[in-house]
Amino acid sequence: MIKFDCSKCGRSYRVSDQYAGKRVRCRECGIVNTIPAAKREPVGCGDSVTAYNNLLLELSKFEKQAPSLEIDS
Ligand SMILES: [Zn+2]
Repeated sequence: MIKFDCSKCGRSYRVSDQYAGKRVRCRECGIVNTIPAAKREPVGCGDSVTAYNNLLLELSKFEKQAPSLEIDS
């Protein structure tokens, strides 16, 4: 779970980790915020590089989009 505040109006949102790095439009003031990455414990090498590459690939798909949040906070 990631918690962040709108950079303009300060409204708090809590979103699931899958929203990390994505852009969402604030439901209160309408500006676009970039959701910060979730804080994670350091992990061993393992699949982290693959996971990171997959994340970058996923982010590139959403780069030009700014979907509205569909959640209740
Ligand atoms: Zn706002």
